[in-house]
Amino acid sequence: MARITLDKLAHSYLPNPKREADFALKEIDHVWNDGGAYALLGPSGCGKTTLLNIISGLLVPSRGQIRFDDQDVTHLAPEQRNIAQVFQFPVIYDTMTVAQNLAFPLANRGVAKDEIKKRVAEALEMLDLAGKANRKAQGLTADEKQKISLGRGLVRYDVNAILFDEPLTVIDPHMKWQLRTKLKELHRRFGHTMIYVTHDQTEALTFADKVVVMYEGEVVQIGTPEELFDQPAHTFVGYFIGSPGMNVLPCEVAGDRLRLGGREIVLDRRYPPLAGRTEIGVRPEFVRLAPAGQGLPISITRVEDIGRFKIVRAALEGHAFDAVLSEGSEVPEGASAVVDPARINVYQDSHLVRPEAGGKG
Ligand code: ADP
Ligand code: MG
Repeated sequence: MARITLDKLAHSYLPNPKREADFALKEIDHVWNDGGAYALLGPSGCGKTTLLNIISGLLVPSRGQIRFDDQDVTHLAPEQRNIAQVFQFPVIYDTMTVAQNLAFPLANRGVAKDEIKKRVAEALEMLDLAGKANRKAQGLTADEKQKISLGRGLVRYDVNAILFDEPLTVIDPHMKWQLRTKLKELHRRFGHTMIYVTHDQTEALTFADKVVVMYEGEVVQIGTPEELFDQPAHTFVGYFIGSPGMNVLPCEVAGDRLRLGGREIVLDRRYPPLAGRTEIGVRPEFVRLAPAGQGLPISITRVEDIGRFKIVRAALEGHAFDAVLSEGSEVPEGASAVVDPARINVYQDSHLVRPEAGGKG
């Protein structure tokens, strides 16, 4: 296993990239610790597969270096990197049986026969494929084929890392949850460095200890699920993670005073003078409703009752502003919104602003 270092890495699919926008992957510097479980999360087209393929060696980056421990592997072929990669769609041999497919990556590397037998049996068990071990892969469903693909990645114990590129896309929802749980289990048991690409926040937050959030070719935040929830580093993270996402509204900030919706809110920390576009971010979970006049003036457009809680959809000075209330809470007539000052984040040109030293934040 290895620590993976990305050193000023960037990639463009164009032969002569000139502008920022020419890069599918903007400059990234990052260290993936040995044995970590990471998720790479972001919307379609943000550069997740590009980054994963650079790590596995399917793609040589236009700029920068990639190292496994202290070895520069930037120009090594995938076979030389000792990495297992599981793709979005099945990559298997149709004419082989399920068991042969699973044994193949091991036989290929000269693993002893007894050991192969043992690991294949384990993989079959884990993937609920034991009953189909001797069936040709050809006749299986897309689900089952993808499970074989997963198994082919997981039978190898000696790898530097296992990379998963949206591996559960074709798997049915119930099975998805089961397989994700298995992957976590395997991670705990063997301690492989695992990098799991997904556009689904639930998958990312349940699988990973650390989530790397990407947006338009850029890594906008690397953090634990709690950090991404409490202190999104970029308004995109606030919006993309959480359901509904964070409320983002234009505001004015001066020291420890914040002007919003014609009212002044006193914060528990001070900010330096801010230029550019200033916004607050507050999660709907930290908004309460109060009778009119007590808080920020909002107009409620809809109340969605979804069992354990209610989502109140509202507008504040024409901007969407949601609140999440617990089950039996009342929605007052002509309500106003009260936000917890401690839970307000301040953004300048979409990036989180740190308060002045001495304040908390
Ligand atoms: P994701 O996996 O997050 O959906 P990708 O890494 O596949 O994103 O793509 C990032 C960007 O690079 C997209 O704009 C995509 O159109 C572009 N891209 C991906 N592969 C190629 C390619 N082989 N040639 C040119 N552009 C590509
Ligand atoms: Mg992709």
